[in-house]
Order: sequence, then C-alpha cells, then structure tokens
Amino acid sequence: MMQITFLGTGTSTGIPQIGCNCPVCTSTDIRDNRLRTSAIVSVNGKNILIDCGPDFREQMLRTRLGRIDAVLITHIHYDHTGGIDDLRPFGENRTLPIYLEPPVAEALRNRLPYCFDEHRYPGVPNIGLHEIGLDPFYIEGIEIIPIRVMHYKLPILGYRMGGLVYITDALSIPEEEYSKMTNVDVLVINALRKQPHLSHQTLADALRVVERVQPRETYLVHMSHHMGLTAEVEKELPPHVHFAYDELSVDVR
Ligand SMILES: [Zn+2]
Ligand SMILES: [Zn+2]
Repeated sequence: MMQITFLGTGTSTGIPQIGCNCPVCTSTDIRDNRLRTSAIVSVNGKNILIDCGPDFREQMLRTRLGRIDAVLITHIHYDHTGGIDDLRPFGENRTLPIYLEPPVAEALRNRLPYCFDEHRYPGVPNIGLHEIGLDPFYIEGIEIIPIRVMHYKLPILGYRMGGLVYITDALSIPEEEYSKMTNVDVLVINALRKQPHLSHQTLADALRVVERVQPRETYLVHMSHHMGLTAEVEKELPPHVHFAYDELSVDVR
C-alpha cells in the first residue's frame, strides 16, 4: 500500500505571493493557498520525503507526519532544498539519508558546510548525502527509479516508485525516459500556468504528457497564481486530471 501526501503544491513564490492582491492570492478556497512543492510518499510503513523546501517546517507541523526515513531531492533550487536545516529532528537517532545527484550534493556541501564538518556543532542536522545517477536503487527494500527531466537547460530528476511517477519543475522530458512511465497509476506532474515560461511546463504541456502516459489519475503541482482559481480552472481539466492541493493524500495502487 502506497500513499502520497502533498506537503506543498505551489511554485517558488508560494501562493499567496508576497504583496499580491490578485483573486488567487486573496482567495478563501484553501486549495488556492499553496506552499512550495514537496510531498511525502508512505510505503511499507516508511515515509520518503521528496524535496525539502523553505516551507518544510510548517508543512510537517500541519500534516503531523512525525517521521521521515529518507529524502529524495529533485534539484538544487531553493524552493526544493531550502528546508534542509529543519531536518534536525529526524537525525537524532540516526543519520538521515538524502539521495541526490553529485552536483546537487556538492552545492549542498557548500551551502550547509556546518552539516558536514568532522566535528559538528551539537544539534545540527545529521544528514548523509547519497549520490545517485539514473540507475534504480533501493531504500529499505523500496525500488526507486530516477527519471531524467529537463528544467530548461538544467538536468534534474523525477522519480518512479511502484505505480507512482513524480515529476516537478520539468520543461521537457527526453524521449527515452517515457519507457520508465508505462503502467503508471498516479502521475504527479508540474504545470506552472497557461502562458509559456522559460523553464516550466504549461498546463497544455502537462496535459500532453498525461495523454501520452495514460495514468489512472494525474495530480498537477507547482502552480503559480497565474494559473487562476482552482475551482474555475479545474472545470477545464480532462477526467482523471486534478489540481493537487496542500495536505491532500492520494492512494497509489
Ligand atoms: Zn521549483
Ligand atoms: Zn497573486
């Protein structure tokens, strides 16, 4: 039994965006209130966190999921890694493993040098960086398949676990990666807004991926306030495609 809980579903600014009074940023629909994109996959009693953004602490307090067994990082951008210092409580009894690509690991060692000192200051995060490539690997018996996606010119990772595919911040997906996306039960994919953007898929781009992959259900993430009100735009979505929202949990078959 696998379940994904969305901790955040917004783009790098979150929604509301600071200083904005647009209808989305002032909406009272909780689905229009989006912290930075991140999720927890619960499987076999383990909680695997995907990305750890600047809202991580607040997200964990909201969801009350008090346990994290491992972390998967998609890419270095701050909206996906800015909460790593708040992993402190999860390294008290063990070194918390974080899986990431070598350039991301190097950048984190530079950004958070105090986590990797030989003699660490008491209380700093106890994290271990595990460098991965595109080969499948296992976390506590759970197979993780990295998927290469392109964030404009930056190669970043999506992940497949069982019937779940999680892709955020993609602009494009290399042709050969679609072979990793057969028999998908739940697809999570980014859709920034309707208008084109340099480094993110539009809603139409995301729907083209859905058309091709044919998952049972699809949940869109990493939306900006330009997408419009969830209650209105979701009426335009095809069946079995939904806007994810913060704290939503979905079963994966
Ligand atoms: Zn992002
Ligand atoms: Zn706004």
